Amino acid sequence: MSQSTPVNELPAVMSVYNRFPIRLAKGKGSYVWDTEGKRYLDFTSGIATCNLGHVPDFVHKKLSEQLSSLWHCSNLFTIPQQEELAKRLTNNSSCDQVFFCNSGAEANEAAIKLAKKYAKDQGNPERTEIVTFHQSFHGRTGTTLAATAQEKIHQGFEPIATGFRYLPLNSQDALSQIDNGKTTAVLVELIQGEGGVRPVEQKWITELQERCRQSDILLMVDEIQTGIGRTGTLFAYEQVGITPDVITLAKGLGSGFPVGAMLARQQVADSFQPGTHGSTFGGNPLAMTAGTATLDVMLEEGFREDVLEKSSWLLKALLNLKESFDNIIDVRGRGFLIGVEVDGNAGDLVSNFRGKGILVLTAGQHVLRILPPLTVSWEELEEFIHTFNRIFVEGENNTK
Ligand SMILES: *Cc1c(COP(=O)(O)O)cnc(C)c1O
Repeated sequence: MSQSTPVNELPAVMSVYNRFPIRLAKGKGSYVWDTEGKRYLDFTSGIATCNLGHVPDFVHKKLSEQLSSLWHCSNLFTIPQQEELAKRLTNNSSCDQVFFCNSGAEANEAAIKLAKKYAKDQGNPERTEIVTFHQSFHGRTGTTLAATAQEKIHQGFEPIATGFRYLPLNSQDALSQIDNGKTTAVLVELIQGEGGVRPVEQKWITELQERCRQSDILLMVDEIQTGIGRTGTLFAYEQVGITPDVITLAKGLGSGFPVGAMLARQQVADSFQPGTHGSTFGGNPLAMTAGTATLDVMLEEGFREDVLEKSSWLLKALLNLKESFDNIIDVRGRGFLIGVEVDGNAGDLVSNFRGKGILVLTAGQHVLRILPPLTVSWEELEEFIHTFNRIFVEGENNTK
């Protein structure tokens, strides 16, 4: 990522990240402040995590209450807060039961294990493979990096875990290759986030679901980035009319507090029994409280309609700007997960925005990734479009 200054400011910390050259000290709503007091409009939302903006009041209140009563008690005890969050997730999705963990990679790990166990329980022990798609991103653990169909994520970690088969996204050919007799599940992002904000095509995903149903192959959607209101509905799958067997969640679920979840339909969930899976911190009372409070805000009447209205305005405004500037190649996405593909280096643009007080991200070399908090105001959206326009006008003047 060329937008970062290659200075190691944290010499005692393993340097696995290229970091932006600012230090954040405070956040509230759509804004963050650095240690020098400079304010930024945050259209990264901690990578689609602080979906209710920074330090949202209701979640803050609920977390403060829980903080004064019980922090941790292990899964050897009944944790009623788990049922609260699980009910909200299952009442509002195609799934019936939830396994709680702490991150996206762990949610996908759980899904991968469940898919393998399910095939055996169904009397199909030869079905051991999971299909994933080129340019996907499913995590950084030993197994989820193997699920991630990107050479650069694999490099250096050979031998890569086996049991995954990679196919091209949105490809007709891929559909005919889904069932090779060894497939137990398909794991797919409905909009590839890290891979460049690439949505699945409607016709393709419908056919993918049909293929899966025909062969009792599990349709597992990785909604770690697209879920929890990000695309204007609680889950992105609602907008493409499919009913997934398994859903993985993390990022936005705890408003910034670490929570992961793997949801499954009952018949699939039944393959997990005492002793088959677990996590020390998974379902921790603080994490559950953060998740429940987050969903209570999002499930309020009008919340998601507001996101849909504001985000379609933003998408239209960006499409208008595409008409004005030749170096904008494509504008795509759903809700507040928007990618702007540019002819040039997206990292340089990110620095440019930062210089003008706005934080945005990249998704690959040529795509700007725009992730406002779902609670963003009209004024903040207008400020963003105004600055966007200014940066591209200046860019044109520089090249002429
Ligand atoms: C971020 C992300 C992950 C990994 O989540 P972690 O919490 O970093 O382990 C997996 N899948 C998708 C789609 C993601 O965006």
